[in-house]
Amino acid sequence: MTTDSSIATQDAATRLATIQDEIAKAARLTGRTADAITLIAISKTKDAAAIQPLIDAGQRVFGENRVQEAQEKWPALRQAHPDIRLHLVGQLQSNKATDAVALFDVIHSLDRPSLLSALAKAMDAQGKRVPCYVQVNIGAEPQKGGCAIADTPALIAAARAADIPLLGLMAVPPADVEPAPYFALLAKMAREESLPRLSLGMSSDYETAIMLGATDIRVGTALFGDRPPPARPVPRSGLGMLRNSPGA
Ligand SMILES: *Cc1c(COP(=O)(O)O)cnc(C)c1O
Repeated sequence: MTTDSSIATQDAATRLATIQDEIAKAARLTGRTADAITLIAISKTKDAAAIQPLIDAGQRVFGENRVQEAQEKWPALRQAHPDIRLHLVGQLQSNKATDAVALFDVIHSLDRPSLLSALAKAMDAQGKRVPCYVQVNIGAEPQKGGCAIADTPALIAAARAADIPLLGLMAVPPADVEPAPYFALLAKMAREESLPRLSLGMSSDYETAIMLGATDIRVGTALFGDRPPPARPVPRSGLGMLRNSPGA
């Protein structure tokens, strides 16, 4: 079941090469080279069999949006490739901060003071500093994660005071509208805070994001093909049946 057969029928190496080409073109337009842009392959919902071909094709930076899913998949995949870098791009509950700090190399979803405290505490306890992006709710959408635009300078200041290394700003603009104005607004906010990096752009708009200054693009569908719908697919009553089925 896929809506984009052209993606579905290509192999991982071909999809990756195509996207790398587009990245290089967009980067060139802004006076940069492809290596100034980090392609984060968003592998949420995809199993090891789907991820491995991309690793084989040379991709080393991956992103997940759930701590537990990442814990289940990545330790084994990383063992063979210790140079893999794992980014967390999803909303993070404070009670998962310890696990997130232990597993991820970069966190893109620092968006509130309570999470900042939990992350600082976890980093202190583990003796490591995980670089973070402050996520901004750039479209002021109530259902979305991200810090309100007006509260962002204070959150950045608090992160700096807590010695959390800040890379830049991250946002997911509203769906189904032209993203460029939101990209430009986030870029302006990052400039005002002297933050060097911008985590912006997904499968449908990464070229635009790069032209507006993105340094980190988060691409899932264009690399892996369609995902199942986001709603939890398995009702609780169905778990007993699946528990005895052979593993994937
Ligand atoms: C799923 C996800 C992506 C990737 O989206 P695609 O449209 O599949 O490229 C990027 N960023 C975040 C935060 C995501 O959750």
